[in-house]
Amino acid sequence: ARTFFVGGNYKMNGTLDSTKKLIDILKSAQLDPKAEVVVAPPALHLLLTKELLSGSKIGVSAQNAYHKASGAFTGEISVTQLKDAGIPWVILGHSERRTLFGEKDDDVAEKTKAGLEQGLSVILCVGETLAEREKNESINVVVRQLDAVAKQISDWSKIVVAYEPVWAIGTGKVATAEQAQEVHAAIRKWANDKLGSQAGEALRIIYGGSVAAKNCKELASQPDISGFLVGGASLKPEFVDIVNARL
Ligand code: 13P
Repeated sequence: ARTFFVGGNYKMNGTLDSTKKLIDILKSAQLDPKAEVVVAPPALHLLLTKELLSGSKIGVSAQNAYHKASGAFTGEISVTQLKDAGIPWVILGHSERRTLFGEKDDDVAEKTKAGLEQGLSVILCVGETLAEREKNESINVVVRQLDAVAKQISDWSKIVVAYEPVWAIGTGKVATAEQAQEVHAAIRKWANDKLGSQAGEALRIIYGGSVAAKNCKELASQPDISGFLVGGASLKPEFVDIVNARL
């Protein structure tokens, strides 16, 4: 069975002090021992978070990285630097990176390839906008986003795919369990066709977009939903309930 995965994407939130408090809450909570938990604080807080979590099973992730190892790329942090700093995970292709910062499918693919080459694990985000959903394009869009990555890499064993419909992010408008499962099943089919059934069935596909304590159990019971990528609720004690959605 696929290990249940819950990521907390802190986005551009928090101070050194508030991050420390959040991590303290997580460290003292009773978390489902069968769940894999990874938190993604802002880059400035990564090393502190890693240190606070040393000796715990909770992992640490960056929210983005650049594919070049080093050079004149002011403001960027490379996958190579993440590797050097002992940060094992990176979120790539988040819709906020795509829409606000202009990242294209091919950029995300290049970053994914570079991250895997450094031995990082990748939370690869895909998802359609509201306009695309209304045109019945949801599955075409996620398949296009995934195909761009599959052109560059063949081993998906260190990738977790996060399906995050843009219209559900930060809006309180969660996809219904049926809507989410439908796209997750389409991603599963894509993975089975493209990667073979063994890798396809092993791939973890997690849901993100207004996940909360009150909706996580129903989502977590869907056959192709293997966890969550949580934004707003990951900044609250409620995150513990989401980690424990399968208990
Ligand atoms: P919210 O949980 O705040 O909707 O954010 C989801 C998200 O973008 C996680 O990456």
